[in-house]
Amino acid sequence: MFPPANHSPRTVTCYHCGAPIESTAAARSTSCPTCNKRIVLDDMLIEVATMWSGPIETCGRVIIGPAARLSTRLIAAAESIEISGIVTSRLSCKGLVSLNTGSTFKGDCQAAALEVERGAVLSGFFQVGAVNAAPSPAA
Ligand SMILES: [Zn+2]
Repeated sequence: MFPPANHSPRTVTCYHCGAPIESTAAARSTSCPTCNKRIVLDDMLIEVATMWSGPIETCGRVIIGPAARLSTRLIAAAESIEISGIVTSRLSCKGLVSLNTGSTFKGDCQAAALEVERGAVLSGFFQVGAVNAAPSPAA
């Protein structure tokens, strides 16, 4: 599993409504005081082939390892998304999306910043730069 992060108190951004949230040091999930929805604070590490119908959402990071084959509706992360495997999804990230060498990404991507290594394969609609709002509800 992922090594335990050094959880210092931090301010995170609600991925539902965009409101800032003060999280306690050891919190792994909490409820947004603005929209009252549950939010996940943990980093998520995905290393296996999986069909995941529900959205993957966190205020932390999402890391998709080189062995992962992931097909899901939405991956949303406030901090960053790093892809080394094969992913079909919509991405929403308020930080950096990294597509590493050997990765294949298919879908739409909305991110504050994008980094693509040589050899990464990508297709879809990319909107990189100002990310103004929380992800819109899936159609
Ligand atoms: Zn909220």
